[in-house]
Amino acid sequence: MDNITASEVAGLGVGAVLLSATLAATKVDAFFSSSQRSSLGMCKRCGNLKRLACSTCRGTGSIREGGILGLQHLFQTLGNSESNVNLTACVKCQAKGYSPCPLCSQL
Ligand SMILES: [Zn+2]
Ligand SMILES: [Zn+2]
Repeated sequence: MDNITASEVAGLGVGAVLLSATLAATKVDAFFSSSQRSSLGMCKRCGNLKRLACSTCRGTGSIREGGILGLQHLFQTLGNSESNVNLTACVKCQAKGYSPCPLCSQL
């Protein structure tokens, strides 16, 4: 009952190591991607893409009228998505779906 075999101990140990390694890798990866970008002279914000997805239209370039109140979304959920959906071009990004990276555009 209390006899834990060596292989069981090893299995537990390996499992713990794998788990901690996975957790550490995630942190290391996040750390590296940030420091790597800066060390390579890449933009931390956009990774040299020089553009960021528009927060207003969420990268689609257009916004739904009345979507702010959520009524349009409700109608869509009810299956009336074909009617009364007025798409308007996003003013913030000029319907491009992205805006220039503020960090890169300062250069
Ligand atoms: Zn936009
Ligand atoms: Zn940038």
